[in-house]
Amino acid sequence: MNINLDSRIRILIDSPLNHEGEFVLYWMTAQRRVTWNPALEHAADLAEELGRPLLVVEPFSSGYSYASDRLVTFVAQGMLDNRQSFDGTGVRYIPWIETHRERGAGLLRRFSERACVVVIDDFPTGHPRYVMERAEKTLSTRLLAIDGCGVIPMSWTDKAPPLAHTFRRVVQRTVLEAITNGPKPNPLDSRSSVLWMQDEQYNSLIQDLRFEMTPLEWLWRVAEGGKTGKEALEPLPIDHQVQPVVDRRGGSIEANRLLEVFINSRLDSYSDGRNNPSDSSTSRLSPWLHFGHISSLEVVHRVLKECQWDPSMTSEKVTGSRFGWWGLGEAPESFLDQIITWRDLGFHFAYHRPDYASIESIPEWAQMTLSNHANDPRSTYTFQELENANTHDEIWNAAQRELRETGIIHNYLRMLWGKRILEWAPDPVTASDWMVSLNDRWALDGRDPNSYTGIFWVLGRHDRAWGPERPIFGKVRFMSSANTARKLDLQGYLNQFGNGDMDSIEG
Ligand SMILES: Cc1cc2nc3c(=O)[nH]c(=O)nc-3n(C[C@H](O)[C@H](O)[C@H](O)COP(=O)(O)OP(=O)(O)OC[C@H]3O[C@@H](n4cnc5c(N)ncnc54)[C@H](O)[C@@H]3O)c2cc1C
Repeated sequence: MNINLDSRIRILIDSPLNHEGEFVLYWMTAQRRVTWNPALEHAADLAEELGRPLLVVEPFSSGYSYASDRLVTFVAQGMLDNRQSFDGTGVRYIPWIETHRERGAGLLRRFSERACVVVIDDFPTGHPRYVMERAEKTLSTRLLAIDGCGVIPMSWTDKAPPLAHTFRRVVQRTVLEAITNGPKPNPLDSRSSVLWMQDEQYNSLIQDLRFEMTPLEWLWRVAEGGKTGKEALEPLPIDHQVQPVVDRRGGSIEANRLLEVFINSRLDSYSDGRNNPSDSSTSRLSPWLHFGHISSLEVVHRVLKECQWDPSMTSEKVTGSRFGWWGLGEAPESFLDQIITWRDLGFHFAYHRPDYASIESIPEWAQMTLSNHANDPRSTYTFQELENANTHDEIWNAAQRELRETGIIHNYLRMLWGKRILEWAPDPVTASDWMVSLNDRWALDGRDPNSYTGIFWVLGRHDRAWGPERPIFGKVRFMSSANTARKLDLQGYLNQFGNGDMDSIEG
């Protein structure tokens, strides 16, 4: 028995396996990759046990929250990589993008009625969560949700961790088990030929279900981007104002290339350089992690291998401290803390707290102090002014332009971006709604558990009270553009995304 894999499985519909079923179905909604994918691994195990083919469907619905040209292009690029990765594995893979509203209605149900068992990704936020919960309500076939989200399985906590420090202790207690006994890097290696659905069976299934394939040629056009991609996407009922990002190609191939670059030339300077927008020391992997094009478990394994780490180097004591536990240098330890403690914290929090995207999820002290200061006088902007990067603060405008143009904001400036929205929105509830709307609409890595970790951190989640008590912020940690300008070298950043004018920065 693999405790690690077993604890990633949740039975959502506990009906018996359908032995009359024709295949095992994996509905790939979040972990959009072949490698290090426990849902794919378990679905393949089940198919072998049952002696049935495995069918993998990777859907993207036009009803996906904030579906836009940007998101569809990134996902389509990933689908082309997945096609290549499934090629030769002996498993049928169907990428599917909903091109007309409602064409996908009931699609999973129709497939499920012919399946022995359905496997779906367990994901705690956004559209993948919605699809999973809807499947639980509407299907009758046995349904398993499998957690391929992070390093520490979400079932290993029994409540939402309040602080990174608390969660780091869980990580230190459990991470060796999680990384040494985790999902397989290549779950389809050495599988039985039974997994392949023969052409005759496949064609008649597709016909019976009246399933309209997404034409490969159309996927290629979308993935190409530019004018060709725009024309291909035009008929879709999605947000066309949010354009694809030119230099961020979705998919596992690009994710692995970025990981190589990070390990070979950025990791060493990660702890000193990660806060500086003019220094490119971070991995930039968050969009690919969000769409499951790469697994954080794989990233961790690759970093540990590069550092020639072995389990005997770790401290025997659970300290909860950020440095020293792994027995590595400051840079890799600082990166591991972000990608394990901070990243998984968001998943575990959202897993236990359905109100993860609401201001009610912030701690009591933060709710109280923000509400005490909710009527403090403030100069406000409208949502449109913020969305259009039209404020008097050029650092903030640059961060918002970066978000609109590149689908992400630099690490440190993302915190400042949020803090100023708290200052400029009419009240804290509106501030949190605006942050969520702007981030989820424009960010490639939005709609993720970490979107809400970051946004609600701005309002005090996973943080402590700070002094002195200030207008609007109360005891919530304060940040200003003037301090940021003093602390960081922003010239290069402002040349790229601002008007280059350092005088238009306000404290
Ligand atoms: C207001 C605000 C909004 C944010 N929105 C998002 C979001 O939509 N999606 C998102 O993934 N992250 C979000 N973050 C967290 C963080 O800013 C990004 O994860 C990070 O900047 C991504 O860059 P990177 O991949 O180069 O990170 P690296 O520094 O290379 O770190 C590697 C990975 O670790 C994780 N990570 C790093 N820092 C954090 C952090 N502070 N909290 C949680 N996980 C972290 C991410 O998965 C990241 O990709 C937000 C933070 C704030 C303050």
